[in-house]
Amino acid sequence: MLGEAGTTLPTITSSSSAITKLETVTINEIYQFLQNENPQEASFHVIAKIVEFVEPSGWYYISCNTCNNKLGKNNPTSMFCENCNKENNVGLIRYRFEIKVCDKNKDEAIFVVFDEDGMNLAGKRAAAVINEATESVGQDEWQGIYKTTPECLKHIIGYTCKF
Ligand SMILES: [Zn+2]
Repeated sequence: MLGEAGTTLPTITSSSSAITKLETVTINEIYQFLQNENPQEASFHVIAKIVEFVEPSGWYYISCNTCNNKLGKNNPTSMFCENCNKENNVGLIRYRFEIKVCDKNKDEAIFVVFDEDGMNLAGKRAAAVINEATESVGQDEWQGIYKTTPECLKHIIGYTCKF
């Protein structure tokens, strides 16, 4: 995602050796593509407007600082990385949230936004947002923080972005 892109020309990159193509398409074209071909063989850019957050999915996760995999609870006081197969209590908080977007044809899709893009949109790291949130509501409210879209992300509703 490259931020507000209403004025950006479509970027089309092609490589004769690679099966991955990168081009700007509409959401409807993606749906058609997903029906026809193996979706892992291509990546696309879509210019679409952010309509709303899909809030039940939360907006961040705690990742392994070695492999970026999502850490799971080992017991009440420690975390575990299944990918590294070891206990890990130095997790990093990263953005991961779902947004509903709408393109110029009024087709809608759910996109998942990961850490780097989330940081560009919010203007700060996920950990900084958590720190601010826990200062105002207290450490006991983690579940509430997870479920509530932070103010710094709410303002991206209505943005037109290139995904
Ligand atoms: Zn790991």
